[in-house]
Amino acid sequence: MDSGTNNRQSIIYILLFVGIITLVFYSFRQQAISSEELTIGELAQDIKSGLVKRIVVDEDELKLTFKDDREGTSQKEPDATFVQQLRELGVTAEELNPENVIIEIKPPGVWVGVITVLGYILPFIMIAGLFWFVFRQARGGGSAAMNFGQSKARKFTGDNPTVTFDDVAGIPEAKEELFEVVEFLREPEKFMSLGARIPKGVLLMGAPGTGKTLLAKAVSGEAGVPFYSISGSEFVEMFVGVGASRVRDLFDKAKNDSPCIVFVDEIDAVGRHRGAGLGGSHDEREQTLNQILVEMDGFDTDTNVIIVAATNRPDVLDPALLRPGRFDRRVILDRPDMRGREAILEVHARGKPLAPDVDLKILAKATPGFVGADLENMINEAAILAARRGKKAIEHDDFQESIERVIAGPERKSRLISDTEKQIIAYHEAGHAITARSLPEADHVHKISIIARGQTGGYTLILPETDRTLVSRNKILADMVSLLGGRAAEEVVFSDITSGASNDLERVTKMARDMVTRLGMSSVLGPMVYGKKDELIFLGKELTEQRDYSESVAEQIDIEVKQLVSDAYQRAKDILIERRDVLEILAEKLLEQETVDSSELDKIFPVPTPKDGGMPVKNSK
Ligand code: ADP
Ligand code: MG
Ligand code: ZN
Repeated sequence: MDSGTNNRQSIIYILLFVGIITLVFYSFRQQAISSEELTIGELAQDIKSGLVKRIVVDEDELKLTFKDDREGTSQKEPDATFVQQLRELGVTAEELNPENVIIEIKPPGVWVGVITVLGYILPFIMIAGLFWFVFRQARGGGSAAMNFGQSKARKFTGDNPTVTFDDVAGIPEAKEELFEVVEFLREPEKFMSLGARIPKGVLLMGAPGTGKTLLAKAVSGEAGVPFYSISGSEFVEMFVGVGASRVRDLFDKAKNDSPCIVFVDEIDAVGRHRGAGLGGSHDEREQTLNQILVEMDGFDTDTNVIIVAATNRPDVLDPALLRPGRFDRRVILDRPDMRGREAILEVHARGKPLAPDVDLKILAKATPGFVGADLENMINEAAILAARRGKKAIEHDDFQESIERVIAGPERKSRLISDTEKQIIAYHEAGHAITARSLPEADHVHKISIIARGQTGGYTLILPETDRTLVSRNKILADMVSLLGGRAAEEVVFSDITSGASNDLERVTKMARDMVTRLGMSSVLGPMVYGKKDELIFLGKELTEQRDYSESVAEQIDIEVKQLVSDAYQRAKDILIERRDVLEILAEKLLEQETVDSSELDKIFPVPTPKDGGMPVKNSK
């Protein structure tokens, strides 16, 4: 890394060297001592018996030579003179007469003193050094060793923005949402004078590389307020109890610095569903998460601290984080569509010489499924290729090759959609949209996209027109038809079907089963509830279902459910066969531009007049 690391390493080597010297020194001393170590009492006895020839007093250390030439050592008490001590032990002056025993007293040498002292201190220094080193390693560098409890959040101020909103492209909705946050922080009075409440938390959700971190950085650059940034994984380190205190420390700093922004990147590292995951202790994470929740709840309305968090995995987040008053704003960063990709390419092509044969539109078209990070990577690869080939500008060929590299590269986790696949997805999604639009009772289609999102190939955003508490039988049937519209389109157009509809089928099956067993909407089985569901409230999940009906009823239920689903499927197919012309137009449009919004859809296939959301109409007599 840098010179700091080198210094650190040489310190470690010095410590090790000194340590070895000390050990050698010690073992010599130890050896000398072990030659024959007498207590002062034994020495006194030996003197009285006239066995001792010579004693060299070196500080408290006594070197003995016996009359029979044996050698030995002894120790005197540090705070009494040697003679005094011997006298106390009953040795007479006579017996200490130089004729009997020669006593030499060495003046205390400086070096002897230094080495003795070092001998005592060095082991401690070494141990301390070792601890220091180990902690350093464990914490992966960073500041001093003993401030575990302090947050490692980095503080940025908006004075010299490195990233601005101009660097973020292709995700207009997300940008707009965050722009609002920035405005709020710039002029809180403007909003508060109208009684608007500050959003406490903003949660950015999106696949890796869609620009969550980038967007947060742009906010920091633009807001002109302090910006604390920390990654969820930094909260959770090897020392237990550290996470929670780090959170506390971070929020204390932030509150003192308000208005400001706290950015928690990869919050799923701490915010995972409590109790989920594989064995081991989750205490640490749980405590950290709890502390975050406590801090968020503790904000007063006039604490202008906004928490922006980012995650790739909203599905694993603890529901407690998503409760109102916490992350009350969620911003979804979709994978960019063709237009979005073109805009992102424009951002990253800035300042790079492009040959005249390069058309960003064509590149955008050739990279379905690419996210911002992929596109940036691709431009970079192309520039490298062009440079290696000694070109002055990046040419189309370089891009062509770099696209392939990015697709093949390890960075890329999601796959590129092939042309055939894209076509199937286009018809599938168009099928949903057209069946939904053909049935006035069904929910309205707002946006269709063939760009992968999560597990499904594409998606059709269908939103209910009104909040309902009552759902009619016709409405459920219509929704089932539109859910099956995807699969039906595949069959009608390609005479073959794919796995892409599995989620649709699951939902349809559940709807049909609920109609029969819960809502009493089957004429065969009548207005009855079949089966008892025990819900464990605190888990919020259905865990068990008790069957309280006979085998033959079970069979009837199955037959009825199957009938409802197959009827709906037939209806979907009928609609699509009849409106094949519109299906083709819409699928073409999707292939061309990847997303179609509701106003474009209106032009292709106007909304039928709704019949009050499928509510029953009074029968005339
Ligand atoms: P995430 O945090 O969502 O995984 P990042 O924000 O780290 O993704 O994106 C990585 C890089 O990809 C960014 O530094 C940027 O260069 C590029 N990038 C991603 N999304 C965009 C975008 N919408 N506009 C421009 N560049 C983007
Ligand atoms: Mg990120
Ligand atoms: Zn579908």
